Amino acid sequence: MKQGQGALVVFSGGQDSTTCLFWALERFERVEAVTFDYGQRHSSEIEHARQIAAELGVKHTVLDMALLNQLAPNALTREEIPVEGGQEGELPSTFVPGRNLLFLSFAGVLAKGHGLRHIVTGVCETDYSGYPDCRDIFIKSLNVTLNLAMADDFVLHTPLMWLDKAQTWEMADQMGKLEYIAEKTVTCYHGIPGAGCGACPSCLLRSKGLAAYLQQRRPGGKV
Ligand code: ZN
Repeated sequence: MKQGQGALVVFSGGQDSTTCLFWALERFERVEAVTFDYGQRHSSEIEHARQIAAELGVKHTVLDMALLNQLAPNALTREEIPVEGGQEGELPSTFVPGRNLLFLSFAGVLAKGHGLRHIVTGVCETDYSGYPDCRDIFIKSLNVTLNLAMADDFVLHTPLMWLDKAQTWEMADQMGKLEYIAEKTVTCYHGIPGAGCGACPSCLLRSKGLAAYLQQRRPGGKV
């Protein structure tokens, strides 16, 4: 049964946040999405987010967060900085300190303005690449902080927090959205939708998860 309250989904147009968008659409009567434009390497990511939101009839707000690049130049926004996985104990070159803290705080302000009590984000501890503000303990802490800051009772939802990539594909499949998400979302660092470039760390993680899920769904079947 759908809850009568509204939800704001933090939405990048990628696999995880699109799964969260479908998750929210199953649960809440009113769903909106917010995308943060921080000068991503490829603006196709934002265009795909717009397209998906329009297709699903979801009100979509794109917030200009270009100042993030001014604060912390990194591989997600600067072409000249290569995308590298973190060595042991080091953060990957895509790291922007405090990014989720900023994004979720802005999402809170927007949700307040739009009368939405629930905030949904696809952060996840399982594929934890060292981002401290993706941890469950941080989300719980921020939930308290947002409520105190705005004298409200927001509920932060993290449906993917304890899922690995294969389980995230499983969730999409259970909602009947696996094909849609596999084709339409952009996770690739080079902005290529669907299976992407097939070589960047993000594409490798995504395809590995999908292969693992399809393997268990159709034992012995081709991936
Ligand atoms: Zn890629």
